[in-house]
Amino acid sequence: MQLGGPPDPSPIRTRFPPEPNGYLHIGHAKSICLNFGLALDYAGRCHMRFDDTNPVKEDQEYVDGILDAVRWLGFSWDAGGEDNLYFASDYFGWFYEIAEHLIRAGHAYVDSQSADEMRVARGTLTEPGRDSPYRARTPDESLALLREMRAGSYAQGTHVLRARIDMASPNINLRDPVLYRIRFAHHHRTGDAWCIYPMYDYAHPLSDALENVTHSLCTLEFEDHRPFYDWILERAAEGGFFQRPLPRQIEFARLNMTYTVTSKRKLQSLVQSGAVDGWDDPRMPTLVGLRRRGYTPESIRLFAERIGVSKAHQWVDPSVLEGALRDDLDAKAARAFAVLDPLKLELTDVPADFDEPCAAPVHPHHPDRGQRRFALTREVWIEREDFQAQPPKGFFRLFPGNRVRLKHGVVVECTGFEADADGRPTKVLATVLPDSKSGTPGADAYKVKGNIHWVSARHGLPAEVRMYDRLFTDPTPDAGDKDWLASLNPAAKRVVRAVVEPTLATAAADERFQFERHGYFVADRVDHRPGAPVFNLAVTLKDSWAKK
Ligand code: ATP
Ligand code: MG
Repeated sequence: MQLGGPPDPSPIRTRFPPEPNGYLHIGHAKSICLNFGLALDYAGRCHMRFDDTNPVKEDQEYVDGILDAVRWLGFSWDAGGEDNLYFASDYFGWFYEIAEHLIRAGHAYVDSQSADEMRVARGTLTEPGRDSPYRARTPDESLALLREMRAGSYAQGTHVLRARIDMASPNINLRDPVLYRIRFAHHHRTGDAWCIYPMYDYAHPLSDALENVTHSLCTLEFEDHRPFYDWILERAAEGGFFQRPLPRQIEFARLNMTYTVTSKRKLQSLVQSGAVDGWDDPRMPTLVGLRRRGYTPESIRLFAERIGVSKAHQWVDPSVLEGALRDDLDAKAARAFAVLDPLKLELTDVPADFDEPCAAPVHPHHPDRGQRRFALTREVWIEREDFQAQPPKGFFRLFPGNRVRLKHGVVVECTGFEADADGRPTKVLATVLPDSKSGTPGADAYKVKGNIHWVSARHGLPAEVRMYDRLFTDPTPDAGDKDWLASLNPAAKRVVRAVVEPTLATAAADERFQFERHGYFVADRVDHRPGAPVFNLAVTLKDSWAKK
């Protein structure tokens, strides 16, 4: 680490440096896959580092949540015999020593202007800034003040430590940026040990250098900060704190996803206002939300691979994320029947105790995964939309006089229906065609166009199914001056009482299924119980937004 230390055995070091002030979202997943992925590709290391230098908004809850999310995505900071879990707050002592060095070397001074005075004197993009009247303070004077600031002798806002660079620089980030400010705030790790805290732009490059990071990847907004990143590391290296080569900052475009927001602050306000049911609400673009929604780590890594990394600003449609999940689950998820909007179908020509065993593959491409077994009974549930009293042209499911196959069961012919006073069907009536059972020699003799799913009314399990859609109706809810909450989608969550096939009695929390003809669903990791199943819609079988 320091001059004269042993050479670093790792060819590259990257880091993932979140601030523990919220839960990670899909944008962070891009950064995680990039940083940890590069380390894996080049036999290097990726450090997990908490940028916990701002005591006010940070919390242990978020530290734990972030570690969980990175592990869930399948990455590890504990690699090659090193446990690379770090906290920038552990470096407070170092940062402070370097600050004293900068003052002694003439590169920093304590400024005592008010925040307003500093802002005005900073200038604008077109006008240079003005030197602070305190800029000429001697190192001794500034050092004494910094020590008193650290000792708690001054009120918040009275003094700051600034770099002495160039108030006329065309890059505003080089107009004597603030390095330290006074904050009487309790820190979630260092407690009350400090009442001065370093600024992000100061702490970040020093943390990178302390950890021997080689490639410090960050989003494009930090491009203008790079000259200061390099400046501070050069000054610290001149002081003998670090050995060259120094870390390099490299920018990439952040991920922006349409129909959602990816800012921890906005996500937090959705949680606090009750617009969603928590950070892990399946409508949220957080990793805990996506996980509860049914996303797999593999699907998110596949998504990161597909969107790639570049310097071009990136807006990604959620269909790309959804496509990755479909592609991952198609090969994995067991199939099942679920009727989401149940309408009763009665087979009028079989006895009341009819109980005909039927079988269907767990997965159509993996016969080795065996068969699901369930029985056909006199009364079954079908999807309300699979029956039409007066069928529109081209409708080939159930209507009076038409035949369909009850998938993996028998062929039936609709003989009529019962309806309520408003004409809404309450029960469909049908008869069974002889020798039509799936898998028997006679089955192929029947040519029917419709093939519908069903669940026995006697054996089916009632289930709560939560149908989810996009959180916002506007593709860019927070662009420009929009009121970003105005386009919250009130229909983003809909709860239905469904009936599912009896084999789902053994579904475990987090287990994913393809409900045939509907989409992929997951047993909710929080609320699902074997006796009271709860499933979440992860993604529909087809992109239902594509046509809109
Ligand atoms: P937010 O505004 O949501 O809090 P942030 O950038 O402040 O985001 P950090 O915790 O500081 O959040 O981010 C940790 C890392 O994740 C940073 O290196 C940051 O560049 C990266 N990151 C954050 N958001 C995105 C995004 N949308 N796309 C790609 N990388 C991101
Ligand atoms: Mg941040």
